Amino acid sequence: MECSVEGLEKDLNNMRKCYSSGRTKEASWRESQLKGLRNFIIEQEEQISKALKQDLGKHQVEAFRDEHLQVGILMKSINIAIKSLRKWMAGQEAKLPQIALLSSAEIVPEPLGLVLIISSWNFPFGLSLEPLVGAVAAGNAVVLKPSELSPSCSSLLTSVLPTYLDNNGIKVIQGGPMVGQQLLHQRWDKIFFTGSARVGRMVMSAAVENLTPVTLELGGKCPALVDSLSASLDKKVAVKRILVAKYGACAGQACIAIDYILVQKSFSSELVALMKIWIKEMFGDNPKASNTIARIVNEKHFSRLKSLLTDPKVKESVIYGGSMDIDNLFIEPTILLDPPLDSVIMTEEIFGPLLPIITVEKIEDSIEFINSRPKPLAIYAFTKNKTLQRRMVSETSSGSVVFNDAIIQYIADTLPFGGVGESGFGKYHGKFSFDNFSNHKAVARRSFYTDFWFRFPPWTLNKVQL
Ligand code: NAD
Repeated sequence: MECSVEGLEKDLNNMRKCYSSGRTKEASWRESQLKGLRNFIIEQEEQISKALKQDLGKHQVEAFRDEHLQVGILMKSINIAIKSLRKWMAGQEAKLPQIALLSSAEIVPEPLGLVLIISSWNFPFGLSLEPLVGAVAAGNAVVLKPSELSPSCSSLLTSVLPTYLDNNGIKVIQGGPMVGQQLLHQRWDKIFFTGSARVGRMVMSAAVENLTPVTLELGGKCPALVDSLSASLDKKVAVKRILVAKYGACAGQACIAIDYILVQKSFSSELVALMKIWIKEMFGDNPKASNTIARIVNEKHFSRLKSLLTDPKVKESVIYGGSMDIDNLFIEPTILLDPPLDSVIMTEEIFGPLLPIITVEKIEDSIEFINSRPKPLAIYAFTKNKTLQRRMVSETSSGSVVFNDAIIQYIADTLPFGGVGESGFGKYHGKFSFDNFSNHKAVARRSFYTDFWFRFPPWTLNKVQL
């Protein structure tokens, strides 16, 4: 796709013409594009795996798990969309109040028009193609811009994916912030953005110009509350799930990775001891040599993480790990105990393998702690206490709440995925993706027969004294 402003505008005009022609609205077009996407994933599986390894340097087993998970989730999303498409498109009947005699109504989903999807680098296929499935299923013309920070994946999406699709209605454009800005300043009918709150703000301010609706899939600090579990099996399961949802999730570079832990003071030393044992079990005595933990995506992010740890206020709270190697973009799985709450590591999203543990007097105090901070994308709570579980759901606000595990909410097409407050807004996955890219139009029909006489002027008092 053209990158010059004139070329871009020409391309977008052609796409608008394509949309106006009604082509993208046809069920057969939507189906054929979804099948094209499916063929891309099947036929390019090896290239997809290679690109993910090149860009994110994950251990091949973690890459295998994530690739298959990503590819698996995507395949499932595409298959569900193909199977459900005509049902979703059919809309649903509705009722009008009795005052509108002899009437009928329905809710008809219509596409929004020409939409823009901007995605992030940490799950470059999932975060690009999952919204694309929804946008195409809903009958839109789509421009996708993946992240420049996962260049091999973006190249595959830019150069190979279009060969599977109708390029009059779907285009992929490669580039970084400058291209992003050029795109944001065009006229869109919807912008779907996955990335940081900083750029999310730019997306919103650009959208103001044309009152463009936006979905912002942002990040934030996802807490994991760990109750004082008594059974040793529960403790082991909780610790293993916590560690994999931090260090084993692209080295913590995932929007729904655990950002920090909340634990009751009296249970903290036992929790820390268990975590140390299981870090060694999972990542070995020398994690760098084991290559089990993914690398930090680039030097900029490495320096950002380094500055979080070398902050003089924070240094003393490091109780495990902390070693770094810029040449290999490696940071050891690291635990911090009670770093100052006003330090950057506790005020900004970490997005890396540093895990602060914050102690509270009573585990119930976690609710106030969470509520005094921006609303997270996810809250995790490892507890069997049903009252605490109920309180977590009803007294806190977040995009999702998961008990006794982490990250599993992402793989469910039956659950809406997205944030609230500073973690973003707008939901997708499964039918929620179709709805996200649709206008649910209210359609009402009346017969020409019968009307209540009092609905029409002139207004005379006897009309309200019925
Ligand atoms: P980012 O905001 O830097 O970049 C995201 C996208 O925006 C990229 O495609 C990038 O090229 C583009 N971009 C960057 N600067 C731009 C500008 N000035 N104008 C227009 N476009 C611009 O974020 P990132 O580093 O890719 O991702 C990290 C953040 O994304 C974290 O906060 C993470 O939590 C969040 N995230 C959220 C989800 C989710 O599903 N909610 C998923 C992954 C990542």
